[in-house]
Amino acid sequence: MGESGLEEVRLVDPEIAEAITGEEKRLQENIELIASENLVSRAVLQAQGSVLTNKYAEGYPGARYYGGCCNVDRAEELARSRAEQLFQAEHANVQPHAGATANLAVYLAFLRPGDRILGMSLAHGGHLTHGSPASITGRYFKAYSYEVDRTSGLLDMEEIRRKALRVRPRLIIAGASAYPRRIDFEAFRDIAREAGAILMVDIAHIAGLVVTGLHPNPVPYADVVTTTTHKTLRGPRGGLILCRRRYARKIDQAVFPGLQGGPLMHVIAAKAVSFKEAQRPEFAAYQNRILQNMEALVEALLEHGFDLVTGGSDTHLLLVDLRSKKITGLEAEQLLGKVGITANKNAIPFDPRGPRVTSGLRLGTPAVTTRGMGPDQLRIIADLISEALHCRGDEGTLGRVKQRVGELCRDFPITRFASSAKIG
Ligand SMILES: *Cc1c(COP(=O)(O)O)cnc(C)c1O
Repeated sequence: MGESGLEEVRLVDPEIAEAITGEEKRLQENIELIASENLVSRAVLQAQGSVLTNKYAEGYPGARYYGGCCNVDRAEELARSRAEQLFQAEHANVQPHAGATANLAVYLAFLRPGDRILGMSLAHGGHLTHGSPASITGRYFKAYSYEVDRTSGLLDMEEIRRKALRVRPRLIIAGASAYPRRIDFEAFRDIAREAGAILMVDIAHIAGLVVTGLHPNPVPYADVVTTTTHKTLRGPRGGLILCRRRYARKIDQAVFPGLQGGPLMHVIAAKAVSFKEAQRPEFAAYQNRILQNMEALVEALLEHGFDLVTGGSDTHLLLVDLRSKKITGLEAEQLLGKVGITANKNAIPFDPRGPRVTSGLRLGTPAVTTRGMGPDQLRIIADLISEALHCRGDEGTLGRVKQRVGELCRDFPITRFASSAKIG
């Protein structure tokens, strides 16, 4: 970082240049544990910062509403075919601007307003777009939700089955934003079949694990799969839809002209670059290290006496239940922020506190792993988290923790890993 080629921005708009360099500094000087974030390669940044941003390309490769699309057609074809290969899917649509938009496109393709949908409760780890009343998805559809088991914190497939047979939804949604365990897509497929529902699986968080075989792939089981490209998959911010060939037209038409106008061709090119990176053996090694790092973090937090929802994690994220530590999610997020550790407060299942305060903390290893940190560093991070949360109000200790965070960050400069040749 610090080499982002901002000369022109500095000339034209020093305020924005300052926001960008400030962000580079923040990334460098803090430990990033937000489970949905990552650091993309310089190749991804360059593709996204390219002249492809200039092009209008409504439609799809070979069938555009504008002339001059030969180069963007090539970019989109590459992105599409690489996505299909990576996920072993019959069809990919790479145009959704975001994960939320990808989900909306699926609903537009398969549902009418007022149809019943069944997804994981937001309060238990689901996503806003899975039917929350705060989202258009909970207002335009009749949304029902399933929850995790109160004692284990796990999805109870038999309970979900009973709910599906009672509700008879037109669409069942599997997938989550804050669920630390593997999801059984085959069981979801069986439930959807029995209930006569379409199955959509949203793997926004775990896509990187899925393409490297470290989490089961839902593509063989689901009618349609959605994901973001910017979380564990480590591409540009965006969405992606995968489906069977027989739904290809329906999905493509829902994305455009159903929901969006012109595709973001610069972002699609950057998606293609990230898919190519994800095909390399180094990417599988990277995803493996995400899990090794999570294992080290889980062990160390348990040693420090933290309660973890479900007792641990099979993925890149974990949820700390802070109730036994007599601290709220909000306080924990703020305390950690003070010492240079970035994480987010998160509801735990059956949380007695509201979503603005919460009793939990969500921690993820994708970004620190990209930065090159390993299990030794994750154990140190667990020590620092424990120290920070146990010494509320003790400014001296907090100062020392912040200093150690700073040292760790200096040992792992982001520059070393920004080049895609080096990024693991
Ligand atoms: C992050 C996330 C999304 C939304 O992605 P955006 O790009 O922020 O719109 C959708 N579903 C799940 C499960 C997510 O975790």
